[in-house]
Amino acid sequence: EEKINSILVTGGAGFIGSNFIPYFLEKYNNYRIINLDALTYAGSLNNLQEVEHHPRYKFVKGDINNRQLLEYLFEQFNIKGVIHFAAESHVDNSIKGPDIFIETNVKGTFTLLETARKFWMIAPFKYREGYEQCRFHHISTDEVYGTLGEEGYFTEETPYAPNSPYSSSKASSDMIVRSYFHTYGLNVVTTNCSNNYGPKQHDEKLIPTVIRKALANEHIPIYGDGKNVRDWLYVLDHCQAIDAVYHRGVCGEVYNIGSRNEQNNLQIAHMICELLDRMKPIAKGRSYKELITLVQDRPGHDRRYAIDPKKIETQLGWKAEENFEDGIRKTVQWYLNKYE
Ligand code: NAD
Repeated sequence: EEKINSILVTGGAGFIGSNFIPYFLEKYNNYRIINLDALTYAGSLNNLQEVEHHPRYKFVKGDINNRQLLEYLFEQFNIKGVIHFAAESHVDNSIKGPDIFIETNVKGTFTLLETARKFWMIAPFKYREGYEQCRFHHISTDEVYGTLGEEGYFTEETPYAPNSPYSSSKASSDMIVRSYFHTYGLNVVTTNCSNNYGPKQHDEKLIPTVIRKALANEHIPIYGDGKNVRDWLYVLDHCQAIDAVYHRGVCGEVYNIGSRNEQNNLQIAHMICELLDRMKPIAKGRSYKELITLVQDRPGHDRRYAIDPKKIETQLGWKAEENFEDGIRKTVQWYLNKYE
């Protein structure tokens, strides 16, 4: 019989984590998942109804800064891996109130690393017996690289140049994770991913906002001139990339995750409105596009992000599979069900 190992997933009630957990439980039958989530405004157990009663799944409500709780969980469940999603994730919130971004993203990541080090290792570069394979997977963002002009791509060698309190807090956490590899030999991997879209994303983010406002017949706010470009990745493609890196990534390495799918905000809003016009016509002769309104730009708004995913594609054989139009259609359908 195959041995069951426990993995601590943090932030599993959020957008990406709650897509990841069902995917992972379904794909592997030799892992138990302990989902530690503080259930901030961004997390919801509604996202996890499909696994609620799964025999290899357990939810724990708590904060990644609660060192005592972390030590209890590592001990109690004999944690053999960490996949760390928990974060404050909304750039606009980080502009209004940066404190919690430092607290959760920087300090929280540090607290988790310290717990893993204490529990798994007896000295720098020396694992406790039975813990040699234990891995800490840090989930991060392409925003740490700052902004691009019309040309060029972020690679794993691009220097960090974060511009918002959100991206700088993620950049800081990436650096601390890196140091735990170089200083202590902790088995870490970091992935820096581009913008995700798909089911279960919080209402505050771009795509849900466009759908929500359109259905409410309200102005659809788009920042600045609407030409900010992001490299959009379907959330399940991201989950598969995490799976590949968690299992096959090289210790201490960083992998960028992207799908070569650059879209500006206005293009996305148009695409969604056209879909809604077909799926749920607003009124004869009218289009949801009429609701699109350009609003005062976000301060420090990065112009363009684009990832060169060559490393993960060539070294780990992962490649984004979802076609953008199909992915957006599924996403719009999911929100139609939610908002109606
Ligand atoms: P999200 O905001 O939807 O979810 C974050 C989750 O973390 C929530 O469930 C929240 O309750 C939990 N959380 C927050 N603070 C916590 C704390 N102190 N202790 C325990 N749990 C806490 O975020 P998301 O979009 O799912 O992003 C997950 C991770 O992926 C983040 O680290 C983010 O930086 C990264 N990321 C996101 C994207 C994206 O497009 N969404 C892209 C690249 C990287």
